[in-house]
Amino acid sequence: MDLSRWGVREWTMTALAFVVFCVCALTAGRGLASGANGEVLRLRFGGDAARTRVVVDLDRSTRGNVVSAGDDGRVIVTLSGVVPRDQLSGAGLGLVRGYRVAVSGGASRIELSLASGAEIERRFLLPPGDGVSHYRYVIDLKTTGRAAARHTPSAPVRHATARTERPLIVIDAGHGGRDPGAMGAHSRESTITLDAALMLKAELERGGRYRVRLTRDSNTYVDLYRRVQIARAADADLFISLHADAGSDPATRGASVYTLSEQGAGRAVREFTRGDDWSRELRLPGRDPSVDRILLDMTQRVTQNRSAQLARTLLGGLEAADHPLLRRSHRDAGLAVLLAPDVPAVLLEMGFITNPEDERTLTDDRARRRLMRAVAGGIDQYFRDPVGPMQMAATGATGATGQP
Ligand SMILES: [Zn+2]
Repeated sequence: MDLSRWGVREWTMTALAFVVFCVCALTAGRGLASGANGEVLRLRFGGDAARTRVVVDLDRSTRGNVVSAGDDGRVIVTLSGVVPRDQLSGAGLGLVRGYRVAVSGGASRIELSLASGAEIERRFLLPPGDGVSHYRYVIDLKTTGRAAARHTPSAPVRHATARTERPLIVIDAGHGGRDPGAMGAHSRESTITLDAALMLKAELERGGRYRVRLTRDSNTYVDLYRRVQIARAADADLFISLHADAGSDPATRGASVYTLSEQGAGRAVREFTRGDDWSRELRLPGRDPSVDRILLDMTQRVTQNRSAQLARTLLGGLEAADHPLLRRSHRDAGLAVLLAPDVPAVLLEMGFITNPEDERTLTDDRARRRLMRAVAGGIDQYFRDPVGPMQMAATGATGATGQP
């Protein structure tokens, strides 16, 4: 891993990232508190299975005290003078399997359960600055190369969070409401995606192996950021956005799968900062080119590799069902719905609404069911052979999402 990632530059980026996160948080109606009591606002994670950064967002200064340094499979740090606003807990990333914040007197007790052996490399408080209006307490962890005490070593992080629950899949029906998407000869994309989403949900729930949530279940408009939020808030195991393609040549047909590449993230930023609908929806702060870098940083490699894995198994499922594929069927793009840094996500273009055969497939009940079975088969395959973050850290250095 490149140590310069943790350099001074990183701080500028982290700071700017906060602008994005704060603006996003406000958008979601969870603004920063300015009350009398100090609060722990949230925890964020970055890095990988070799080095993991934990950032605790706070609305005032604090002092940290290490209770447990990782020897017993946990890192516990208390932060004085701040308490969590809500119950805070969830899955971690990299070396952190999961976290929990509890109130302990007038302090917060941050408990990180480790996915593998780790120790605290450094910790420090960052005051407001660089356009960030609140404090951050940072805990950097590095691997000891040993198994975590009391934990199984090489189990993949996201799927080994002591979860007895079935995997949660968020299905996103593209477009909707005032945004009909692409138009075919007899159909519109927003209807096709909703029908497909409902069918895929039924298909996945039929086996009893998954929990499924939809970002919309009627012809309503849901903004792109909200769709990402739904997946993140639900701690989804994967996110699949369904769309239908459109082209100027009616002969063009076939499905394709998008994942977010680094290049894709860059393109997303250019979209956002152009002042079009997306940027208004996401309320990104401005046209600062460094936002580009922030989003790159936000898209964690582990997630990217998991997304690429999902893209492969989905295409495998479609291929096995003889569903036509576009020539370069796995593409990467900067699509806002793929921007969640911690939920593996793909966007499936199920076919071309502008191609007569594809349109028939997408609107015919039987053909569509066949297609959705194939998609469900790809998802089954994804969960059958999960790739652990250790392997990914070793093999995924240049990203596995393929270059455009
Ligand atoms: Zn679309």
